[in-house]
Amino acid sequence: MKAYLDNSSTTREFDEVRELIYELSGSAYGNPSSLHSLGVEAEKHLKTGRKKIALGFNAEAEEIILTSCGTEADNMAIFGIAESKRRRGKRIISTAIEHPAVLEPLRKLEQQGFEVIKIGVDAECRLDVGALRSAINEDTILISVMAVNNEVGAIMPIKEIGEIKSAYNASNGTEIIFHTDAVQGFGKLRLDTKKECRNTDLISCSAHKIHGPKGVGALYVRKGIKLPSFLAGGGQERGLRSGTENVTGIAGFGLASELCMMNIDGRIERMTVLRNRLREGISSEIGDIRINSPKDGICSVLNISFLGTRGEVILHDLETSGIFVSTGSACSSNSSLKSGSHVLNAMKLSKKEIEGAIRFSLSEFTTEEEIDYTVSKVKEAVGRFRKLGSFR
Ligand code: PLP
Repeated sequence: MKAYLDNSSTTREFDEVRELIYELSGSAYGNPSSLHSLGVEAEKHLKTGRKKIALGFNAEAEEIILTSCGTEADNMAIFGIAESKRRRGKRIISTAIEHPAVLEPLRKLEQQGFEVIKIGVDAECRLDVGALRSAINEDTILISVMAVNNEVGAIMPIKEIGEIKSAYNASNGTEIIFHTDAVQGFGKLRLDTKKECRNTDLISCSAHKIHGPKGVGALYVRKGIKLPSFLAGGGQERGLRSGTENVTGIAGFGLASELCMMNIDGRIERMTVLRNRLREGISSEIGDIRINSPKDGICSVLNISFLGTRGEVILHDLETSGIFVSTGSACSSNSSLKSGSHVLNAMKLSKKEIEGAIRFSLSEFTTEEEIDYTVSKVKEAVGRFRKLGSFR
């Protein structure tokens, strides 16, 4: 049996997406900027893909800037606002638990003289919203808070932060921009730019986290927000990001987004049931654990520390049984080798808890049988490791 439980790292494409990409690679290979019929055909698929991605945010197609990945969308938002507003102020407010795609641009901006304030979280990964509110001042140009944490699945209070930002702007005449990295939230959480994200100005997302292809992302840019050009050239993407568009990838992203949105409530419910089954199964079968994911976290993520073990060793043991998990974020696994996960550190977990952490991440395709199989194999692996450890 095989159980792929590393869906926060990346997902398997929907069959429909794979088929569409394959078909368009053979038929819609024209350059969407070309004037002839093959170009027009490619442009048609580009437009449809963009429209479908926009629908996922209940936004207009013109508000979607297509990028090569979520990282690029985050970079475009953060460097773009820093560049366009550097004369207005130097303060950027973010959190200690962001993905490196946000933390690294912030580190670079700090080196250029920007003041970066990182708001902390508690042991349940709840953001200190009071501290965020107090950090806002007239020098603030940007607030960047992720929608869902990729390591533990905690959902951040995006609606509330947006309201705080807008209220501050209204009473102080400032133009603070609110960006959210929704790479782990898009497709699994409602991110309606007319409802819960009404006060969010920029939103990043990525196709490969929602059963779309790798190499495509998008940045939602609310009408009226100005960003400098990120890549200069032929002027594609409203001049923000020149370069011939990834037509097949964008069409695949659009279809994946449409399929995810089609029955979002049913999908969330089904994944929640499976995630709870995994949590309850592990809790009742294995002692000495710490559940690091909040109960009200995203439906797809369960992070657990198995005390007295090393997550990495358990990961490789599970792999021999066909189970694929992660010790944290695949994208940050290199930098986190030294001190352990920055997210679990921010939650003030002990060294032992950090060492023994495993992230299980579910998807659309996860089944009850896979969950039960995983519980039994994790029990065996942890038991084996603890037995060996006690002989040392
Ligand atoms: N932001 C978050 C929260 C993520 O989890 C990831 C990827 O894991 C990214 C950004 C980067 O997305 P991409 O892999 O598309 O560059």
